[in-house]
Amino acid sequence: MKKVNRNKSTSPSTVSTANIMSIYSKSDLELFSSYSHEQVHIYDKLCSSISSSCEIAYCTSEGITICVPQTYQRQLSSSQNLSSSSSLSSIVVARIEYPFESNDQINSVSTKSTSSFIFEKLKDKYLSRLYEAYKHRPTSLSSFDRFLCNDTIKYKGFRRCLFSPFDIRLNQGQSILATITCAHEVFIYEIISSSKRFFLSQSSNLKIDLTKLLFENIQLENYLQDTNSEDDYRLLYFHLTSHILWNQTGTLLFQLQYSGHIIIWKFYGSTILNEKSLSIIDTKINKPLTMIWNEQAQLLLIIGKENQRVFIKLDQMKLFPININHHNDYMNTEYTQLIQWNRNTLLLVESKINYCLIYTILTDENQPSTYNCNQVDYRILPSPIVGFQEEQYSSSFLNHISILIGCEDGSIHCLIISRESPLTIVDMKLVTSGQMKSCSRKPLLLRHFNLSSNELLLARIFYSPIVAPNVKFGFVLCTLHRWLSSTVKSTENIIENFLERIDIPLWRSFDEVAILLNEITHSTNQNYQIKKQTNQNVLFLQRVCRLCSLLNNTKQIEIYENQLLKIYRYQFWTILNSLFSKMMNKLTPIELLIYRICSNDQQIYSSTLFMCPMCNTSLTMLADDLLFSTCSNKHMWPRCCRTLLPLSFDSAQKCSLCDRTIILIDTNNKNYSNFLQYKDHELNILFSSICTFCM
Ligand SMILES: [Zn+2]
Ligand SMILES: [Zn+2]
Repeated sequence: MKKVNRNKSTSPSTVSTANIMSIYSKSDLELFSSYSHEQVHIYDKLCSSISSSCEIAYCTSEGITICVPQTYQRQLSSSQNLSSSSSLSSIVVARIEYPFESNDQINSVSTKSTSSFIFEKLKDKYLSRLYEAYKHRPTSLSSFDRFLCNDTIKYKGFRRCLFSPFDIRLNQGQSILATITCAHEVFIYEIISSSKRFFLSQSSNLKIDLTKLLFENIQLENYLQDTNSEDDYRLLYFHLTSHILWNQTGTLLFQLQYSGHIIIWKFYGSTILNEKSLSIIDTKINKPLTMIWNEQAQLLLIIGKENQRVFIKLDQMKLFPININHHNDYMNTEYTQLIQWNRNTLLLVESKINYCLIYTILTDENQPSTYNCNQVDYRILPSPIVGFQEEQYSSSFLNHISILIGCEDGSIHCLIISRESPLTIVDMKLVTSGQMKSCSRKPLLLRHFNLSSNELLLARIFYSPIVAPNVKFGFVLCTLHRWLSSTVKSTENIIENFLERIDIPLWRSFDEVAILLNEITHSTNQNYQIKKQTNQNVLFLQRVCRLCSLLNNTKQIEIYENQLLKIYRYQFWTILNSLFSKMMNKLTPIELLIYRICSNDQQIYSSTLFMCPMCNTSLTMLADDLLFSTCSNKHMWPRCCRTLLPLSFDSAQKCSLCDRTIILIDTNNKNYSNFLQYKDHELNILFSSICTFCM
């Protein structure tokens, strides 16, 4: 077991009650929704991730499962939904299968898989040379080394998945999922958004095989150098990935290899920007354990066995050693958090089985590139730690750092660390136990957990073993709970909170929308009237419009939608005017019509470009009603909320984030040839698959 130095002056928690956590009598978290149908293997780690649109993905050796709570009401089925409230507890599910599964053998990966293809290449050219280095370390024949020898093809499924925090509006409303397969390859998927999933045959796209791309774009000889160092057998693992991380904006992906190499990819959405000029840094750490990124300090910390720690400073793309000033404890770090505590102090939190340790990493005032790491304190948890989450929203107004610690027994603890000097653990309290009254499966082991983007929902992935001799299978249970639900009480209260948060755009509030829809569906009082508000900016009106559609309030929704579209029309005209006011004679007839609709809100537009599909007379658009157009026989046709033109059947699409129909403009559509020149900049909203009400 762990060696604990109790006499060290830096550790104030000696043999005292401080280490015995204070047990609060807390009730269960409120269950929001759950999904549990699958049998999984006992060794599946069930690593999970939650996207900004509240999709929860978890990995098994069968593939990746993605669940979502419902976030909008379908117009066709909304009346049924209101009557059968239980329909919300089931979760929509998408599934990703390992793409290189072979057909002929059960439980195997095809030899066409990227990792076995590259390993064959490595073996042919370098194995004899690298084996010389490998021979010096015969003791390290771990299961991983055996994996290298001959049975790459026995593994399938996924080990790890991580949603990109990239702004989904810039990626057509689809979220991006980076994955590590069981064969240690990295694949980047695009997850089709929930509104589109029902209209397309697939729920995900494999966008990039990053492992393959890496080997197509590097000179292998530069990395597999011929040296006499006995550590060089690690280069055999050069193609295998152990860890991935996104930066806070999803524009950088860090790929950590078993050989200790860090590969830095620049992303824009699901497009890679640096295929040729890759950054590859050798940390010289063999089989690194984990890494962690701090956005504020722009530092990447890589952690190896026996307290090896190095920094990579992103601005210099260089490696910086960290001086370790505490005793080596020989236990492997599994999970970490790295938080900027003050200008020259970083707080490092590490988990080692059921120990949670905190360290400071100090920059030397005189030598800014020298870092000193000291252990400050530790706590013992009741069972092995399965992850950390920093509570950023809920602790931002308090003068402390709040880190949630999840344990295998299902309990979640809150570690509170002071923001003011001295840096210490102020408290650790039990937030919730692992018990769930509504769940019949027992026992439950927590495998992983995540907080949603606004920290209103907690996603937990449990494993429930089948208790029988020689059975190595069990069930996976993915649950969503209301987090901090005590701060929000009645339906009115939830609605008011939703309308007040006008600093957060709607597309970032899927957890709020899910809670709101759940509350409205279960509430008996459907007569909520939106009070008149003086502050009517676009973000507020977007929230009001979504609320009206969830409440099925058709009278109010038209008023608010028109208000929002009038603001949009003015903003749109400002852009069009700056781009085209001097070249209006060059615009196509459709472009000119859009320009005119936006420019003067006093007129009535009747155009022969758009005819009534019923009676084939021209459609009239009034300046005061931006939602509908009418023909002379009083047929009403909806207008697109982006182009403000009448919708037509042949070029329509669903908004990726709601159920609304908008005009689809192909990038080779000659009717929009002038607008298309600005499709990636000023006029990008016109060519996105997201509507004005979700932008
Ligand atoms: Zn008509
Ligand atoms: Zn929309």
